[in-house]
Amino acid sequence: MEPVFNIGRHKVWRIEEWAGKFAPPEGLFAEYEAEAFAMEEEGFTPDYVQDGQIYAILQSWLIEADGQVILVDTGAGNGKDRPHIPVFGQLETDFITRFKQSGKQLEDVDIVICTHLHIDHVGWNTRWDGENWVPTFPNAKYIFPAIDRQAWDPAGEIYPSMRGRDVNANVFEDSIQPILDAGLAELVEDGFEPAPSMVLRNAPGHTPGHMVFEVRSEGDRALFTGDILHHPMQVIRPDWNSVYCEDRVAAAQTRRHVIEDAASDGARIVPAHFGGSHSIFVQKTEGGFRPIKA
Ligand SMILES: [Zn+2]
Repeated sequence: MEPVFNIGRHKVWRIEEWAGKFAPPEGLFAEYEAEAFAMEEEGFTPDYVQDGQIYAILQSWLIEADGQVILVDTGAGNGKDRPHIPVFGQLETDFITRFKQSGKQLEDVDIVICTHLHIDHVGWNTRWDGENWVPTFPNAKYIFPAIDRQAWDPAGEIYPSMRGRDVNANVFEDSIQPILDAGLAELVEDGFEPAPSMVLRNAPGHTPGHMVFEVRSEGDRALFTGDILHHPMQVIRPDWNSVYCEDRVAAAQTRRHVIEDAASDGARIVPAHFGGSHSIFVQKTEGGFRPIKA
């Protein structure tokens, strides 16, 4: 499998886990306005909308940068018990086969980055070995936002106040705790640099600890934005949150900031769930912003 784009001299592969119709738009956008969406719907079909449903992807991004192998977000994983979001429960996908088509082995991954600790971004952190959930990438350092590690821990003080704790049921236990127990986790704060010319920045709202991962090389810049954006409609309407955003005021502020930042120098936005070209650029227009196919 060939890389899908470069960031300067770094190569990036896209590893798809799942694709499908997720929900009608009013089931994704908390601030959905039918008329505004209808004006854009034709342009979003079929890459982002099919049969009146949001068409979404689960995908991980694999970066080779100066000999370092970095995996960004790890999807839903196989065989996991997800009582409140069955679409991502007990999956049996060939994600690992597709991962290896990049030419890399599981043992080659040096760094796993989870932009946040939601169900569909941490799943392949672990796999079932017949007895236990064990790290899928045994030689990797797993980078978790320290704030999310606190927020999503069912034994912690913040967890009872989390809006999405039902959706995230079992996730900490089967996909985070085994990594902590194996001593492979590094809990990081704003400004952490996992490798040269790469930085994680706080981007709160969708979850309290959500981070954006910025990679620079030879004048190119890419922003791995996790769930700051679920759909290109949110470039046009940065005030539209997903129903899964914990703090909707903060999430909308973060989204606008990230879009403005990317538009300022033509940085590539690389979200976790986009169909179509899977990553985008954004352009400033008179009244706001427009998504551009990458
Ligand atoms: Zn997500």
